[in-house]
Amino acid sequence: MEASTAADAAAQTTAEPVFTLELNQDQKDMRDWVHGFAQNVMRPAASEWDEKESTPWPIIQEAAKIGLYGFEGLAQFFADPTGLTMPIVNEELFWGDAGIGMAIMGTGLAVAAIIGQGTGEQIGEWIPRCFGTESDLKVAAFCASEPNAGSDVSNIRTRAKFDEATNEWVLNGQKAWATNGGISDVHVVIASVDPELGSRGHAAFVVPMSECKGISQGAKVSKHGLRASHTADVYLDDARIPANNVLGGKEKLDERLARVREGKRAKSQAAMQTFEASRPTVGAQAIGIARAAYEYALEYAKEREQFGRKIIENQSIAFALADMKTEIDCARLLVWRASWMGRTGQTFENAEGSMSKLKAGEVATWATERAIHILGGNGYTREYPVERWHRDAKIYTLFEGTSEIQRIVIARAISGIHIR
Ligand SMILES: Cc1cc2nc3c(=O)[nH]c(=O)nc-3n(C[C@H](O)[C@H](O)[C@H](O)COP(=O)(O)OP(=O)(O)OC[C@H]3O[C@@H](n4cnc5c(N)ncnc54)[C@H](O)[C@@H]3O)c2cc1C
Repeated sequence: MEASTAADAAAQTTAEPVFTLELNQDQKDMRDWVHGFAQNVMRPAASEWDEKESTPWPIIQEAAKIGLYGFEGLAQFFADPTGLTMPIVNEELFWGDAGIGMAIMGTGLAVAAIIGQGTGEQIGEWIPRCFGTESDLKVAAFCASEPNAGSDVSNIRTRAKFDEATNEWVLNGQKAWATNGGISDVHVVIASVDPELGSRGHAAFVVPMSECKGISQGAKVSKHGLRASHTADVYLDDARIPANNVLGGKEKLDERLARVREGKRAKSQAAMQTFEASRPTVGAQAIGIARAAYEYALEYAKEREQFGRKIIENQSIAFALADMKTEIDCARLLVWRASWMGRTGQTFENAEGSMSKLKAGEVATWATERAIHILGGNGYTREYPVERWHRDAKIYTLFEGTSEIQRIVIARAISGIHIR
């Protein structure tokens, strides 16, 4: 008995460990490949596109050429059964540049909605159209927010009415702050089918600009950061689309609404699981920005001399860098945990996806500010990239749910109480 216990113990020490944070070779290769693109293509172009405040089509083209932009690339990132490749790729891209990174990854929001809610047929029809082809590149937009419905998505006013005579949906309303809004062909629009049901009466519709006269771009938003990424209002003015452009199909929508009207529970839990699964990707983007700022500040502090010594020799500077590194690693671990949970189908009992996004957004905003401080006056100028990184980082405490909204989600999950 004793011998076999010893043998078992020995076997356990030589067998594959059950838990590891060591990346496998595929993940390392992917990380290095994306890092190369970020370093050689994105970094040199970052300042120029930030100043231009316009979509960096030539860079998206470069990304498409090597398979980094397109459905195959995205499918490859998602295929990793550990869930880590998606955050690794996002961290590297956004380390390169967040504005260009969002121009490349922004399409993913619409793609995620189509994959998450669409039928097999809809996925086959619309996903290729989100990306276009190498010679006719496209981007896509996800339009949920409205001027009076940001955090409070239940307040969405855009209406979708079904016209039995023509077998079409007719959409009217105004969408705000849509990434790629108006420059995309495919717009996934969240609209209310039955306002009395609040957010349970919402549905997602595919509105293709090339086939629908009633959709147009409103004002383009001039922003603090992420300036290479296009953000605009989108107007829907009697926008007519075929009946089967509602994601999931009209029949399924009718069934769902009937269930809700009967007072039965809608699948809000499923929607929450989807959000929890997508939030770590956004967190990984924030970590990319924070890491860029940390690395830059570290090198600067080792070079810059004041009072006859390198500024890093002062504890106040060295400790700030130590805290930055610790916080960034901490945020990354939360992001990896949530990504792994999402990919392996774990239940987010404590809103772990929201935790990761909350931490990463806050760390990125704080660490980029610290980086400016470590660079002193230089940090505040546009001659150095840290001020851009700080501007880019701030959005990560706002979009995809503000930090307060993440805290509400976490607080409700841990308490079981409807915290407001
Ligand atoms: C660059 C950029 C890109 C974007 N891209 C998209 C996109 O592609 N698609 C899309 O649909 N939307 C997009 N958005 C919109 C974004 O998701 C919203 O701005 C965000 O959800 C916050 O909504 P809001 O701006 O209306 O802020 P508000 O909801 O008005 O919040 C204002 C402040 O009040 C706080 N607050 C609100 N409610 C509560 C509460 N209950 N408790 C405590 N505090 C609260 C918030 O945390 C925040 O600090 C984008 C925005 C930007 C700036």
